[in-house]
Amino acid sequence: MDEDEVNMLTELIKNKSKLVAMLAPSFPIVYQYPQIVTRLKQLGFSYVVEVAVGAKKTNEAVVNLLINNPTGRFITSPCASFVRYIRTKHPDLIPYLAFKADSPMIATAKIVTEKYLGYQPVFIGPCIVKKLEASEDYPELNIIVITYKELDELFSQFATPQINELSNDKFDLSEPSTRIYPFDGGLTFTSGTQTLLKDKEIRIVSNWKNIDIVLEEFKDNQSIRFIDVLFCDGGCINGPGIISPLSTEERKQRIIEFQKSPI
Ligand code: SF4
Repeated sequence: MDEDEVNMLTELIKNKSKLVAMLAPSFPIVYQYPQIVTRLKQLGFSYVVEVAVGAKKTNEAVVNLLINNPTGRFITSPCASFVRYIRTKHPDLIPYLAFKADSPMIATAKIVTEKYLGYQPVFIGPCIVKKLEASEDYPELNIIVITYKELDELFSQFATPQINELSNDKFDLSEPSTRIYPFDGGLTFTSGTQTLLKDKEIRIVSNWKNIDIVLEEFKDNQSIRFIDVLFCDGGCINGPGIISPLSTEERKQRIIEFQKSPI
């Protein structure tokens, strides 16, 4: 548990500060909707938004990059662990990282900061390395990052009750089209990249053990124009901040069911 960020958020909750929760798209693995929105509001958040909203902006920026650079070659950058891996192990590939497309967390924080003036953005998700992305790469956005595990500890600390019945709460900002983002290939499939490029120009890879093979292929084969990478096996659905007995396939199903639900 990151004591600093959780302690900071604990104090903000106690002081009834103005908070916005940004819930990562893997949340259906751990929480039910809309009960999670009600519970977050009981904890002290004024607004609860889907990070899928920011993922749509990420997609738009990726598509613009591909259209405006017809021979350009790109490696996706929403995975904070992968970006750090490239910086330390493959610095020659840094120029290919598509930083012009903000990660969904960063794109959502920019939307939230503009829409809810004076509110503190809090990202809640499956990833501990997102804490570094927020504090090292985008300190100006002042994002607090906690994991689902840490959120559960806050629910316990503040005795926020479990909610079993359906509530009338909804996301304050929502975007169904990018809810499968936490799977491997989520970015490619929801952005329409596979309609802009030929299959042989795209590589989709997850699990850090598989990444070097694809990166070496990218270096050797100039016809590969786009690599969509997530460091965890299967994508963010197996991020370290998730505690769940569900298999990878069951986790995917939870997210697909939520995407199909009429919300
Ligand atoms: S794939 Fe894993 S390390 Fe990468 S952003 Fe998702 S949870 Fe974090």
